[in-house]
Amino acid sequence: MTCVSPHIPDRRQPGAMKLQWFEPSDGARVRALAWTCDCLAMVYELCQAGGQGFIRRTLQNEDAPEIRETHRWPIAQARDIWAALLTGMAR
Ligand SMILES: [Zn+2]
Repeated sequence: MTCVSPHIPDRRQPGAMKLQWFEPSDGARVRALAWTCDCLAMVYELCQAGGQGFIRRTLQNEDAPEIRETHRWPIAQARDIWAALLTGMAR
């Protein structure tokens, strides 16, 4: 099987930013801008809602997926944090 989407590194880098994860807030329409490979149990998505961005992670449980979201940031900052997540500099 060939993976097209990126994978999150197994380990955090030393000094990586620690993200806080919250219950998802519904409301505004959410658009996924980027996502990690779904061959792993935990899938991360860079999401946009209105002018803001955030990261959503979904643990693909058999019965019910467990969804968590970060704070919302200006979209440029959310993209930076997304890039950090993909390189193990944030988790
Ligand atoms: Zn994969």
